[in-house]
Amino acid sequence: SGKWARAMAILREFEDKCGTPIGKLRQVADAMTVEMHAGLASEGGSKLKMLISYVDNLPTGDEKGLFYALDLGGTNFRVLRVQLGGKENRVVKQEFEEVSIPPHLMVGSSEALFDFIAQALAKFVAEEGEGFHPAPGRQRELGFTFSFPVRQTSISSGTLIKWTKGFSIEDTVGEDVVGELTKAMEKLKLDMRVTALVNDTIGTLAGGRYHDNDVIAAVILGTGTNAAYVERAHAIPKWHGLLPKSGEMVINMEWGNFRSSHLSLTEYDHALDAESLNPGEQIFEKLISGMYLGEIVRKVLVKMAEEAAIFGDTVPPKLKIPFILRTPHTSAMHHDTSPDLKVVASKLKDVLEISNTSLKTRKIIVELCDVVATRGARLSAAGILGILKKLGRDTVRVGEKQKSVVALDGGLYEHYTKFRTTMENTLKELLGDEVAANVFVEHSNDGSGIGAALLAASHSQYL
Ligand code: ADP
Ligand code: MG
Repeated sequence: SGKWARAMAILREFEDKCGTPIGKLRQVADAMTVEMHAGLASEGGSKLKMLISYVDNLPTGDEKGLFYALDLGGTNFRVLRVQLGGKENRVVKQEFEEVSIPPHLMVGSSEALFDFIAQALAKFVAEEGEGFHPAPGRQRELGFTFSFPVRQTSISSGTLIKWTKGFSIEDTVGEDVVGELTKAMEKLKLDMRVTALVNDTIGTLAGGRYHDNDVIAAVILGTGTNAAYVERAHAIPKWHGLLPKSGEMVINMEWGNFRSSHLSLTEYDHALDAESLNPGEQIFEKLISGMYLGEIVRKVLVKMAEEAAIFGDTVPPKLKIPFILRTPHTSAMHHDTSPDLKVVASKLKDVLEISNTSLKTRKIIVELCDVVATRGARLSAAGILGILKKLGRDTVRVGEKQKSVVALDGGLYEHYTKFRTTMENTLKELLGDEVAANVFVEHSNDGSGIGAALLAASHSQYL
């Protein structure tokens, strides 16, 4: 019938616009490399902020003692403690706790958010038990993973440039986030010092390097997306400080804000952006990350409901609610292998209160999820190629076998199997067999938490 033809036309047109043939991905990778150069050349030189992290030494394995970490970067935050035993004993013991952030605190006041965080931290510290040995007479030390764009002023301080990922608290912008946390800890008489302020990419890089010396970059694919990598200090023209002894500096790319004419946006992407808390910003992130994939699918479904009546004569009211369809839902539908697509049926019912869909409709929905996830995964691979190119690791040099490992973390990478395999296969496809044989993507499980604790250790006030 005409209805089906219309629904299929909407799907095919969308698929067409979302196409990421290899040639286009190469253009995206090249654009990424160009923007990396520009962002390193001067402050504000690019959409890519290429932030200097002040981390010029990554963990070696010698780190020893009890350290804490706090990871704030999305819907949950985590507190973690780890007893480090040096080269021989490595991570002797670790414990963590996850706390979800009440939505009203994500858009409330700075004080309320940091008070809430400090309270959870204080409670966790109070539960410190056997196997953890605070050094007598010393303050406990904390690595703070804060995964929003920060203008770093030292390894342990930095001001918030802007919120992303659904946070919007005006009075934190421009403030030192370590100062905010410290104030909240002091109110509670929690005697602890933040010795490292990093973001999740840098934490993951540090955690990855602790386990594998060949880790050169880290990428997060979670609620948001970002990347960090190890740059040669002399290749950072905007750095006017002393060159670090190591000759290296970790750069936080803030690649979520990448944009390029080669990223062709669909009408749905434009609408999503316009309605977002940060219009015009974080365009790469809005195409790739877990916060947005489900919402893109929802927007296309609304169009199909309106113009092709795929759910009957009226648009189901729930479907009209922004962000009601989350990426874990679309992921579950995408992975549905039952012959009658019962996972799709149950998600439609549970999340959107839509029942009695035909198998044909459910098949369209699976295809739609595939289009959205495939584009995101392939663009992520192009981004990684951009980093490898910047480092000259996208080719095989004669007589030189350089292994490159990229540490990956984040819920999207971890749980969305089709996204992950598409991303990894696309990277191989882009690199070609010979180079791909020396490039490895490794899951750095909770690297950011451990990584922050490791950086807290290597920047301890007692060293
Ligand atoms: P954050 O990025 O907030 O620090 P995570 O790295 O744990 O946290 O990522 C959480 C995100 O991962 C969620 O917002 C969601 O988009 C995505 N995610 C979690 N579980 C799944 C899943 N089963 N399938 C697809 N995406 C998932
Ligand atoms: Mg995270």
